[in-house]
Amino acid sequence: MEQEQNIWQQKWVVGNWKMNGQLQENNALVHKLRNFPAMDKVCIGITPPTVYLSQVHNAVQIVLGNKIHTCAQDVSRFPDKGAYTGEVSAEMLRDVGVDIVLIGHSERSLYFNEKNDIQRLKIENVLRVGLIPLLCVGESLKEREDGREKEAVAYQLSVFKGLKTQNFAVAYEPVWAIGTGKVATKEQIADMHEFIYSEILSLVGNNANIRVLYGGSVNEKNAADIFSVPHVDGALVGGASLKYDAFTAIITAAQES
Ligand code: PEP
Repeated sequence: MEQEQNIWQQKWVVGNWKMNGQLQENNALVHKLRNFPAMDKVCIGITPPTVYLSQVHNAVQIVLGNKIHTCAQDVSRFPDKGAYTGEVSAEMLRDVGVDIVLIGHSERSLYFNEKNDIQRLKIENVLRVGLIPLLCVGESLKEREDGREKEAVAYQLSVFKGLKTQNFAVAYEPVWAIGTGKVATKEQIADMHEFIYSEILSLVGNNANIRVLYGGSVNEKNAADIFSVPHVDGALVGGASLKYDAFTAIITAAQES
């Protein structure tokens, strides 16, 4: 990927469509997004299901306003190619125009039991082909209630140790806030984002480019408030990214923050 340097200074608003969308509705949404006015302070990403990556990538090439990045929801832990039925490699993602790859979304660990070891292999594969991994971290409700949220997040971030890259993108998504309508308080977000910054710096040294997005029931009503929190560099947006008005209101809030 041709990496624009300034995405590490922009606010990222990345829509995660999860297992939603079909050809016709994807086209309608992306068509409208293509005509949305340029927002120079925002790095916009769309993360469709794998089978629609090419559709989205091709559609966002003819952009009037913003560059829209095509993102993937997952990648194989196996490199290159081979007898791994059902898998999609990092090379293939790059081939169809992907720029950013989600790693370790909590739904992957919940339903597919993905933990640090697998996430590490996936990050290495993504970096090897020049794409950007966006690592999702976040504590469970139980971990927060037990006061172990930082311990849990520090463990998840430890997959970064020793990687040969200067670029680190993380989405802090408290598991109890994803798709539940519950949003972490500004104090909780500020505290954890500051912690994530300091953890990454202590793992990888001071020259790192860092983006830490917040995710968990972000919508058009709470986005501006969330973006006003120190160390919040954007949002990973699930449900609200499927609706043009809500998603573009979040992008606008990022631009104005
Ligand atoms: C997500 O999918 O990462 C997410 C944060 O979902 P939602 O915005 O729907 O809570």
